[in-house]
This record gives sequence, C-alpha cells and structure tokens, in this order.
Amino acid sequence: MSETPVRQVKCPTCATLVAWGPQSPHRPFCSERCRLIDLGAWAKDEYRIAGEQPLDEDADPLLRRNP
Ligand SMILES: [Zn+2]
Repeated sequence: MSETPVRQVKCPTCATLVAWGPQSPHRPFCSERCRLIDLGAWAKDEYRIAGEQPLDEDADPLLRRNP
C-alpha cells in the first residue's frame, strides 16, 4: 500500500479506465477517437430534439388571430 493511488475515470464511450492526469490529454476519454464519438452522439441528440419540435404557433391561442 505504498504506491500513490492514481485517480482513474471510465471513458464515457468505451468504459476503459483512464488515468486522470496529464498523461491522458483526452480525459475523461481514453483517446481522441472516443471523444469525437461522444461529441458526435451529442450533436445527433441535439439535432433529433430540434427536429422533433413541432410548430407551436397554431397551438398557442394568443398567437391565433381570426382573419
Ligand atoms: Zn474510450
């Protein structure tokens, strides 16, 4: 028990243990590849959520005007 404990985190993409320190420039990801995969997933989620938003002008009675 004389070794200095190294703090480790799991890569959010592939769950590989990554040392939390300057030797892991892509932390908490294990590599730049995993970082880009995660960023891509976020971008897709945002795009999907934005695409599912309905046009709510007709749903808001305050914005409806009789011709
Ligand atoms: Zn990874």
